[in-house]
Amino acid sequence: MTAYEPVIGLEIHIQLNTKSKIFCSCSADPWEAEPNTQICPVCTGHPGVLPVLNRAAVEKALRLALALGAEVAEVSYFARKNYFYPDLPKGYQISQYDQPLATGGALPLENGRRIRIRRLHLEEDAGKTKREGGRRFVDFNRCGVPLIELVTEPDIRSPEEAAQFLTRLRQLVRWLDVSLGHMERGHIRCDANVSVRPKGSQSLGEKTEIKNVNLIDLLRPAIEQEIQRQIQVLEAGGQIEAWTLEWDEHQRVLRKMRGKETEADYRYFWEPDLLPIVVDRAWLEEVAAELPELPWEREKRFQEEYGLPEYDARVLTTERALADYFEAAVKAYGGSPKAVANLVINHILRLMNEQRLTWDDLRVTPERLAAILRLVDQGVIHKNAAKKLIPLVQERDQEPKVVVEAEGMAQMQDTAALEALCARIVEAHPEEAAKYRAGKKGLLGWFVGQVMRETRGKANPQEVQAILRRLLGE
Ligand code: ADP
Ligand code: ZN
Ligand code: MG
Repeated sequence: MTAYEPVIGLEIHIQLNTKSKIFCSCSADPWEAEPNTQICPVCTGHPGVLPVLNRAAVEKALRLALALGAEVAEVSYFARKNYFYPDLPKGYQISQYDQPLATGGALPLENGRRIRIRRLHLEEDAGKTKREGGRRFVDFNRCGVPLIELVTEPDIRSPEEAAQFLTRLRQLVRWLDVSLGHMERGHIRCDANVSVRPKGSQSLGEKTEIKNVNLIDLLRPAIEQEIQRQIQVLEAGGQIEAWTLEWDEHQRVLRKMRGKETEADYRYFWEPDLLPIVVDRAWLEEVAAELPELPWEREKRFQEEYGLPEYDARVLTTERALADYFEAAVKAYGGSPKAVANLVINHILRLMNEQRLTWDDLRVTPERLAAILRLVDQGVIHKNAAKKLIPLVQERDQEPKVVVEAEGMAQMQDTAALEALCARIVEAHPEEAAKYRAGKKGLLGWFVGQVMRETRGKANPQEVQAILRRLLGE
């Protein structure tokens, strides 16, 4: 049997988080609105209306283009893509065709492999149709919502890489405030082009296109299935046909939707109602100047500057607000960045997850987190107490010190008293003490447990251990 190599290219639509639509002032986030309430004559294409380009949409597209290292065209044009479908009241979609906003650039995968971008352009979304009770309904709210379409080169070599590309793109668009990136709401929609070729071959095989796999967890099995099907067809001496396939949610299989339409079917022509998009150097420089450090750059810096393990650095840079929080806490604390990372990853993220908090809801500010770490360093509370303290600080919205006092969480600071207590406990249990001295060393933990119970957990267990060892004669 021949060994095959998968070849994958993605076409991705990203819904921008602008306030208004791309060519009118209707809301660009109609997610929870009643059907057909976020529309106007422009986005529903009434005769005589004229579209006006939303500058914020262009700016967001420029931000993504620059972050990917793409080449931005000084002049690019809108084009009409004509097709007939009930969710498209105009009978055409305003898109970009032969002169897109940006070309080239790349997105790096975790292993450093760069997936090249072919093009990036702006377009408007269409509406939605749905079937209900034997009837078909249309909702035009989504008509005219701004989208970026991004097309990769066929550089992806496995379903895992495809999933990782999508994960990282989502991370990037959220990081850049280009899109909310809710996959479940269709903010990122992905078509996957798939072919296989004999390993070592430099030419491309015929491809099929899998439409609209919009969840990262579905992208992987869908592509995997199609790779296996193509290999079987080729092994049986058959040929791949350029089908368009659809993922069946219920049966978890791919189905043929149609033979592929060709570009000629769309009868593209330049949009006569809109001026070209002109991006002069000054505008581009302005956008470039405001570009933040990218997630993968920051991940690398966290490892180098703070000595964090790769895993920690990666987790802490999944969201920009998280990375900012971590760095603010490191600064406020001044001690070991790894200690900060541990608390953030193990306790802050868990708290936020369990209580479904946003960063605005979080009352454990970076300064308060730093204060908690200092209380541990000073021996006021035990390291393990942070786990209990963090949710209390959140709940009461008070300084950690105040909560520690109110809750009596401070460890016993009085060494003499602790010594006396340990001595009392050893005396009260002569049998256990004798067994310990006779070699049953496991009993030390039992003694520590007795002391911790007496102090209601406020003693420092390491200190207790040391005292007991001494008293029991070691
Ligand atoms: P089409 O003309 O069929 O739309 P394009 O050349 O425009 O194809 O490419 C569309 C997408 O398909 C791009 O993401 C590209 O990387 C990918 N692609 C092109 N050829 C192949 C192939 N042989 N195998 C897998 N993906 C491919
Ligand atoms: Zn409108
Ligand atoms: Mg094409």
